[in-house]
Amino acid sequence: MNYKALDLIPEAVLVVDEHYRLVFANKRARELYGEGPKTCYGLSHGSEKPCYEIDGYPCPVKNIKDFKLEKSGVIHIHKTKGGSRHFYVLAGYNPKEKVYTEIHIDFFELVHTLRLSGQRTEFLLSLGPVVFFQWKRAEGWPVEMVSQNVLELLGYSAEDFLSGRISYAELVHPEDVERVAQELKYHTESKSSNWIHKDYRVRRKDGEYIWVLGHTAPLLDEDNKVVGYYGYIVDITEKHEQEELFHILAESNPYAVVIYDFFDNKVIYVNANTSKVNGFSREELLSHPNPIELIHQKDRQKILENIKRRKEGYEDTTSYKVRIITKSGKIKWVKLSSTVAHYKGKKVLVITFEDISGDIRRERKLTLLATRDQLTGILNRHALIQNLEHLLAQAQRYRTTFSLIIFDIDNFKSINDNYGHLVGDKVLKDVVRTAKKNIRKSDIFGRWGGEEFIMIFPMTSDPYTPAEKIRRALEEYGLQSKRNVTASFGGTVYREGDTIDDIIARADIALYQAKAEGKNKVIVL
Ligand code: GH3
Ligand code: MG
Ligand code: MG
Repeated sequence: MNYKALDLIPEAVLVVDEHYRLVFANKRARELYGEGPKTCYGLSHGSEKPCYEIDGYPCPVKNIKDFKLEKSGVIHIHKTKGGSRHFYVLAGYNPKEKVYTEIHIDFFELVHTLRLSGQRTEFLLSLGPVVFFQWKRAEGWPVEMVSQNVLELLGYSAEDFLSGRISYAELVHPEDVERVAQELKYHTESKSSNWIHKDYRVRRKDGEYIWVLGHTAPLLDEDNKVVGYYGYIVDITEKHEQEELFHILAESNPYAVVIYDFFDNKVIYVNANTSKVNGFSREELLSHPNPIELIHQKDRQKILENIKRRKEGYEDTTSYKVRIITKSGKIKWVKLSSTVAHYKGKKVLVITFEDISGDIRRERKLTLLATRDQLTGILNRHALIQNLEHLLAQAQRYRTTFSLIIFDIDNFKSINDNYGHLVGDKVLKDVVRTAKKNIRKSDIFGRWGGEEFIMIFPMTSDPYTPAEKIRRALEEYGLQSKRNVTASFGGTVYREGDTIDDIIARADIALYQAKAEGKNKVIVL
């Protein structure tokens, strides 16, 4: 495609692809905006983000994409080399090349020239779904100019307005008119160069109301006095109905629903259930300066990485289990899903989450029950075997080693007989506590059955030293408790070709030997 021909056009023309990347900027565009930026928003707004995301400007290219139009026209303020100026930006889609062509016309010049030449701007600006108006700053907002396509939007003809049969204020919904007037007053007094009204309703000739987005700018005379307004309205009923539907769905949702602006790190919507889960009020959440802090510190990285990927364009739904901090400082586990969506013209994350603390507690309890010995809290026989299987596989694959001891309390029957079963239980717990104090964190300790215990030492080929240490510690405990508690130890080291049974059998033989040799002894085979 030879875009060079566009240099002949005296207005700025940009050709962009669907990601707003510049394919071509004509001569006038380069004179106006300079060279360099590779996107249309970079060039004409000097921004790193699409203009509709920062300014909430309706973007004509986005309009075309979202509403499947052939063309769309809006008014934008662009940063030119000579300062900020209003432009009428008209965009069209070329499906063959899959590109959009934008023409940027200086809006004031356009309106001014047309007025000077006695022409009516509305002919030029009668385009697609965007209806242009020019109002007088007077009671009822009498319409001075309106584009012809107002007939399609409202059912009233341009003539109905221009003849004074109907004024603009009469069309605005009675519930919205006061607010729109307030916004107009506010922006006029604070000398805004343009503004977007909060969505409001206007009445069609058939009596039905439609939701519109209104973008308005003041019309100034030579003394910079506001004499009127010009701007345009776009029908956003469908979008509005979708939003309304969204609110209904979100409020009746059993989960917490949050809309999060991940570009600005702000919560922009929460449903009632959110407060039930995290204890914060709607207002507290909506005004939170850094919502990431609502996530537990240990899980924040996970969330930040997700946000980073979202900014890079990743749009699929993701799910995580993370901890949140409630208003009272409690930690709760939640299952959180997030999806990218467009809300009020912004790219946002719709996040839903549910409290799963109860589930996690139950899960933990079940694993605890399945792997722990109830009396002493250390691993049970089943968990010991699982650990051994794992270590054995590792030893076979990586040629690492491990060693193991079995120990059995000496004459435990007599402790039971002399002091009773309850004291016996207490001694078992004390033995475990004493042994635990004398091993490393990485050592694996469990109850093999009755008063027999197994200790596994990963990556160690010397079971004697730790066994001897524990033996002495138990002896010491026995002396202090005056219950004459000692234990005998049988140890062994993994040998190539061993099965679990082989290792345990060898340690058992060593234990038997230690008992036979007078107990309170360590034997390693
Ligand atoms: P040895 O030195 O030869 O090991 O003598 P011992 O008396 O310790 O003999 P043995 O190992 O055969 O006896 C184990 C005793 O431990 C029998 C059983 O009543 C008692 N025992 C097993 N489990 C528990 C328990 O959970 N609580 C209590 N109090 N006693 C237990
Ligand atoms: Mg025994
Ligand atoms: Mg015993």
